[in-house]
Amino acid sequence: MSKIRFQALAQTLNRKPVKVVEDSRRSDLFGENVFNESTMRQYLTKDAFEGVMNAIDHGTKIDRKIADQVSSAMKEWALSKGVTHYTHWFQPLTGATAEKHDAFFETIGGGMAIEKFGGSQLVQQEPDASSFPNGGIRNTFEARGYTAWDPTSPAFIYGTTLSIPTIFVSYTGEALDNKTPLLRALQAVDSAATAVCKYFDKNVKKVTSSLGWEQEYFLIDKALADSRPDITLTGRTLLGHSSAKGQQLDDHYFGSIPSRALNFMRDLETECMLLGIPVKTRHNEVAPNQFELAPIYEESNLAVDHNSLLMDLMGKIASRHHFKVLLHEKPFSGINGSGKHNNWSLSTNTGVNLLAPGKTPMSNLQFLTFFINTIKAVNDYEELLRAVIASASNDHRLGANEAPPAIISVFIGAQLTKVLAELEGVTNGKLSPQEKTDLKLNVVGKIPDVLLDNTDRNRTSPFAFTGNKFEFRAVGSTANCAKPMKVLNTIVAKQLKEFKIEVDALIKTKDLKKDEAIFNVLREYIKASKKILFEGNGYGSAWEKEAKKRGLSNNKTTPEALKAKISKKSIALFEEMNVMSEIETRARYEIEMEEYIMRIQIEARVLGDIAGNHVVPTAVRYQNLLIKNVTGLKDIFGKDFEKLAGDQIQLIKQISAHIEAIHTKIDKMINARKKANKIENVETKAEAYCFKVKPYFDEIRYHCDKLELMVDDSLWPLTKYRELLFSR
Ligand code: ADP
Ligand code: MG
Repeated sequence: MSKIRFQALAQTLNRKPVKVVEDSRRSDLFGENVFNESTMRQYLTKDAFEGVMNAIDHGTKIDRKIADQVSSAMKEWALSKGVTHYTHWFQPLTGATAEKHDAFFETIGGGMAIEKFGGSQLVQQEPDASSFPNGGIRNTFEARGYTAWDPTSPAFIYGTTLSIPTIFVSYTGEALDNKTPLLRALQAVDSAATAVCKYFDKNVKKVTSSLGWEQEYFLIDKALADSRPDITLTGRTLLGHSSAKGQQLDDHYFGSIPSRALNFMRDLETECMLLGIPVKTRHNEVAPNQFELAPIYEESNLAVDHNSLLMDLMGKIASRHHFKVLLHEKPFSGINGSGKHNNWSLSTNTGVNLLAPGKTPMSNLQFLTFFINTIKAVNDYEELLRAVIASASNDHRLGANEAPPAIISVFIGAQLTKVLAELEGVTNGKLSPQEKTDLKLNVVGKIPDVLLDNTDRNRTSPFAFTGNKFEFRAVGSTANCAKPMKVLNTIVAKQLKEFKIEVDALIKTKDLKKDEAIFNVLREYIKASKKILFEGNGYGSAWEKEAKKRGLSNNKTTPEALKAKISKKSIALFEEMNVMSEIETRARYEIEMEEYIMRIQIEARVLGDIAGNHVVPTAVRYQNLLIKNVTGLKDIFGKDFEKLAGDQIQLIKQISAHIEAIHTKIDKMINARKKANKIENVETKAEAYCFKVKPYFDEIRYHCDKLELMVDDSLWPLTKYRELLFSR
């Protein structure tokens, strides 16, 4: 056995669980390291507190005097907790999060020093931004970027650093991060939804979008993961024969959480508590060594920050427990991949969840309004919704019969399907008193206020209504949720804006009553959104055919899917809703295409290296052993040797054939890469990587995996699937 594989296995076998001490109640720890409302109350003057709260609730500007007070209070609080540095924490367009630490420490002359952190350092920073992706924005504009404080997400202490959530924009105002457009989308959905809410309740002042994510991940022993160059460099295995036992028994899903993993989770959860991330659920997932973690849902911007922070935190805590967390959407072939369901809803400042049925016909009409508008929004922008979850890694999952397909559709359950069918029959124009009563009593009056238990959970749907929220399930496990949340909230905002215009027009021109007008518009929306509703099996090939007939998009790969981001329709949408300018939209497209190219390029290089330098030489070594043995047999038994050595000769030939195939295919792959690299246009280049380079991955893998089965286990250099997946 190779030394690396042997040492990795030996280390794993000797692992002792890392002790975790939990001596406080979780509710006592919650938010301990967050500069949250209660901390602010304690540390801020009344003026400063109100200034910040106004900024959070109403988006008002914080003036310099207040900023100075807040920063000095933050510093005092942070120093009391042993903090030495501060950072503006932001989410660049690739990678997870970025931070640059500065010490509070400053010299003041005369050999003296103080801890300093003023309002200006809190509000704005100018990190050297030249190495962050900008999709051409900064080539045409200024070379600098700046970060600016986002008071809607509280500062927190991470290690010995005070982290201040910020946006990251260019000097000319273009967003260079994921947070800025998300905040704009949340603003858009707030104003559009609030305006629609006024039909039902004049007291509604604000509508908030909520997100509850469910993070799936694999936990692999660190020594084993480190022993595989593919996992280390690409986050997934590029080869490896499937283990004799996989997930077919489903015993992991129902089983108890293994103790080493449980210790990791407890440690992680404690850290989450301190950081105010309200994690609540943990359980095993379908695949061996796969788990899920979910919090209680929060306001979307905060939830996005918390998920980004969590992904970072997971890696750090895992190494304390000698684990490596794999967030990749498909770390192992033949084993379920990981996603990140985005549970989404809208709620009012008066405490009403707009996606939950109410107790009165009127509140149910409000529910149906938001419910149907969401369906219509998804119907009209399904291709954009697919685009926003596209990535090289998520391509492995979508359409691979385990995760939602690459076709976006909406599942609503039998009961609501019936309700929509009835609404579709509403009279065009004025309703008769009889019809109004009927609708009131039998349709909107009949929606049970607890749909939760009634919605049969169609697990194959990429976008499902689950009782009081929509669940966007096609999101990948590595995704920054800001992206799907940006698109979802924007398309719903746009839809609600249209709705308001149409209803108002009917009231005005056709002299309809408010609820008559609403019924009329909803009826048309139901008719117009039929193609997106699908209750059947999303994994089946029948659905692919049917979806095609309906005219739904089915973009299976990232280069195909991303195009919808820069369609005229998408650019116009983002501009109209003030979420992104055309420049910002195009920049993101470029960056994602480039990222796709780089990921496939790296995978191609790593695969070429492992197949050529690890697998082939090992196969040759084993083949030499066989050859030695065969010649030995010949020496002893003379011409009779063939009877004895027939199988081995066969094996020698097979090994030769596989080695030959690997060499040829690696050469071809390298040539395809060379050709692709010469292409200037980012789109054509991405397509070349997708359709000309990537297909060799499976072919090369096939021969390597065959060799894994033939070669003496003790010679095999790479840690095997059974070791990666079943070591505890
Ligand atoms: P599942 O059966 O899919 O695991 P759960 O009920 O456990 O569903 O919820 C999953 C996630 O959905 C959690 O993060 C939860 O907080 C969140 N969630 C529940 N209700 C809402 C809501 N109204 N809006 C947004 N997210 C919600
Ligand atoms: Mg779920």
